[in-house]
Amino acid sequence: MSTTVNTVLTRADCERMDASDALAALREDFLLPEGMIYLDGNSLGARPKASLERARQVIEQEWGQDLITSWNKAGWFDLPSTLGDQLAPLIGADKGEVVVTDTTSANLFKAIAAALHMQAAHTERKTIITERSNFPTDIYMAEGITRWLDRGYQIVLIDHPEELASVINEKTALVMLTHVNYRTGYLHDMKAVTALVHQHGALALWDLAHSAGAVPVQLQEANADFAVGCTYKYLNGGPGAPAFIWVPHKHHAQFHHPLSGWWGHASPFAMDPHFSPTPGIRRALCGTQPMISLALVGCGLDVFGKTSMQALRTKSLALTDLFIALTESRCASHPLKLVTPRAHAQRGSQASFEHPHAYAVIQALIERGVVGDYREPGIMRFGFTPLYVGFADVWDAVETLRDILDQRDYDSNLQKNAVT
Ligand SMILES: *Cc1c(COP(=O)(O)O)cnc(C)c1O
Repeated sequence: MSTTVNTVLTRADCERMDASDALAALREDFLLPEGMIYLDGNSLGARPKASLERARQVIEQEWGQDLITSWNKAGWFDLPSTLGDQLAPLIGADKGEVVVTDTTSANLFKAIAAALHMQAAHTERKTIITERSNFPTDIYMAEGITRWLDRGYQIVLIDHPEELASVINEKTALVMLTHVNYRTGYLHDMKAVTALVHQHGALALWDLAHSAGAVPVQLQEANADFAVGCTYKYLNGGPGAPAFIWVPHKHHAQFHHPLSGWWGHASPFAMDPHFSPTPGIRRALCGTQPMISLALVGCGLDVFGKTSMQALRTKSLALTDLFIALTESRCASHPLKLVTPRAHAQRGSQASFEHPHAYAVIQALIERGVVGDYREPGIMRFGFTPLYVGFADVWDAVETLRDILDQRDYDSNLQKNAVT
């Protein structure tokens, strides 16, 4: 697919792009409200139609009828690893390296703790490097653990990805980066950054919250050390669906974290009074998992089985290229500034624009059925899930934006803001 978009397009051109889009049929696997253009799948993915029947099955049959036997019979106990194995190919991981469990925040805690433990012999390694623009919980979790350990660890916040090279040194224990920035959509070169981190003897922890299911990820090929991510964003697992954690086989034996609950024990049913971790990835588990939520993660992952990340990436870039080109040409008289990189190699599956009245404009868009979101400071963020967003949707979203800007149809929202 071409990387430059002919901006003298019409809606009919976009309809033709939809008609020749091999992924268009996947939209049928999702339930979206009639008339809504949903550009917020990077915050909460849409509902796979299959999830209602799956929830009914878990509640009526597995819980209602089979009760406690479902821990084995329905595969409940194994589900964190069963789903982890299903997710693994989407992030370039091997079987037996991923579990779906707990929250992204909790999994960050485990990975940071394990990384610091692995570096403990190198007492001079006292810094964790991350980005000031990282999603706050990532920084908060690092702050929480280092403050609690009280061993002189410091968190170094960089302001630009290129700063890493000058800041990393022999004192660095861990570099913790989010692969795709939640606000700007900037995409790191995972392989090059991980190589740089390793050159300095540090470990690399990647947060895939905005990349799993959005862009191809090759954790093994990049030789990364740890990864975590959400399943309720591009993976469409449902609100608050359990997150995932990846630990490569090479690190399993050294992976020790302090949330050593019984689900991570070598023999969880031996009721041993002492903890000894299971050898594999299940040592990243802590306690009993929310089975209803967990089961629905499978419905989101099943849809990915019908396509490939490469095909999704091609469409995703075409969608964001189109959105950027149309916005810049059709809303050219308005003060919109693209903050997402234009280079494909640096762009996730979103496009973000600054506007002086970004919050009010987003509210006006939502009122007209075009759902994007607002992120501080002054950014309108639009996520493009190639599974269920089409090219005519992009056209319609931009036309709605243009109309709102031309008519200043967001003025009433400015006043509403002023009084609240
Ligand atoms: C969405 C997101 C999270 C969310 O963490 P939870 O524990 O699920 O609330 C964490 N980190 C990043 C980078 C995110 O984008």
